[in-house]
Amino acid sequence: MTLTKCADVLVMGAGPAALCIVAELVEQGLQVTALASHLPDKEWPNTYGIWAEELETLGIASLLGHRWDKTVSYFGDGIGAEGSVPTEHQFDYGLFDQAAFQKELLRRCGDLKWSVETALKISVLGSQTEVLCCSGNTYRARLVIDASGHRSRFVRRPDHGPVAEQAAYGVVGRFSSPPVESSQFVLMDFRPDHLTLKEREEPPSFLYAMDFGEGVFFVEETSLACSPPLSSKILRERLHKRLEHRGVEIKEILHEENCLFPMNLPLPDRSQSVLAFGGAASMVHPASGYMVGALLRRAPTLAKQLALELAADPPLDSQALAQKGWNVLWTSELIQRHRLYQFGLRRLMSFDEARLRSFFATFFCLPREDWSGFLANTLPLSRLIAVMLRLFWMSPWQVRVGMLFGVSD
Ligand SMILES: Cc1cc2nc3c(=O)[nH]c(=O)nc-3n(C[C@H](O)[C@H](O)[C@H](O)COP(=O)(O)OP(=O)(O)OC[C@H]3O[C@@H](n4cnc5c(N)ncnc54)[C@H](O)[C@@H]3O)c2cc1C
Repeated sequence: MTLTKCADVLVMGAGPAALCIVAELVEQGLQVTALASHLPDKEWPNTYGIWAEELETLGIASLLGHRWDKTVSYFGDGIGAEGSVPTEHQFDYGLFDQAAFQKELLRRCGDLKWSVETALKISVLGSQTEVLCCSGNTYRARLVIDASGHRSRFVRRPDHGPVAEQAAYGVVGRFSSPPVESSQFVLMDFRPDHLTLKEREEPPSFLYAMDFGEGVFFVEETSLACSPPLSSKILRERLHKRLEHRGVEIKEILHEENCLFPMNLPLPDRSQSVLAFGGAASMVHPASGYMVGALLRRAPTLAKQLALELAADPPLDSQALAQKGWNVLWTSELIQRHRLYQFGLRRLMSFDEARLRSFFATFFCLPREDWSGFLANTLPLSRLIAVMLRLFWMSPWQVRVGMLFGVSD
């Protein structure tokens, strides 16, 4: 068993959240210890998508491996030409070049070496916090940041009952004919014409799809949020049925993706003495499931504040440092916005597929800055409220009733 010297901050994890916050802490000149169950250059299992403008604002749009300007959704019933008219988003969407993104974050972490360790127990000892790992090794730091993902067992949060999860089953592959148009990105294809009336009463799902070029496409059947989540088996069956209905057959599977993560995890208890970042800190956008843009935007502010607090005289203990961190990570403005999004998600989860299509068709009629700001969580609270009110007034009455009262079975 070894005990390492006390660092300023210890970060647990090596996913996008950990790498984003470590890069910023290193930039602040802090002494950082990083540990994760695997080396930080191990390929991440997920592919990350984002609206290109979010990266342009940060000056890192070159990290996109794929970018589409032909971005559409389908909110019609799929019957006849009229039911298949696409909503054109006229806004670029992209997928990160995963390796380049990871490499760039690691470059910014300098020569910091990750210890390959799985954290087992965290103990707060006043001015320091100790992390005991499965190996028996212990690490100490003035502050511990848990970036070990949505299912962290170290972060305390209130129990608000069952958590809704986003679930998806997807295939990167070759097909008998193109599942989407050439050079196209489909954010949501909600057309339900391949389903029987009975099947349409079940929790809805949509197709997320894109052309990767050279005859390769990615198609993914996605359930926005559901509790209990839709199973991978159901989503796979729905994907096959949807493709079959369009006369498309999967010829070769290059990669399969099974996606499952919580959408409305309650906010962590912000009085605890371990800070969190990323999935562990409930930073997933409850209305869209996106998080990477938020990590990139929120990490610099958090790291700067922590550097200031770590330099305070007299020194702050672990509890006080974590408190300062939580206050910056979850400001009262961000908490209010999060509550509004969670309210919105609860309403959407009660909608049947027709009402959901109607809702999204109206949502994407909002001015582009409004819907994109809503999805990126970059609108100030007052504007977010104004956008939500505007959406309410623009919506058909069935959707308005659903927004106000939810829809019972
Ligand atoms: C399939 C899928 C697709 C997604 N697509 C998108 C997308 O397109 N765009 C988007 O913005 N978001 C997306 N998300 C949502 C979210 O951005 C991801 O879940 C993201 O990976 C969460 O990042 P994280 O770093 O918090 O956690 P993770 O990526 O889960 O990383 C957790 C890290 O902690 C380590 N760890 C865990 N436990 C311990 C321990 N006890 N000790 C030490 N280390 C530990 C793990 O090894 C890992 O390195 C997607 C999620 C999934 C599941």
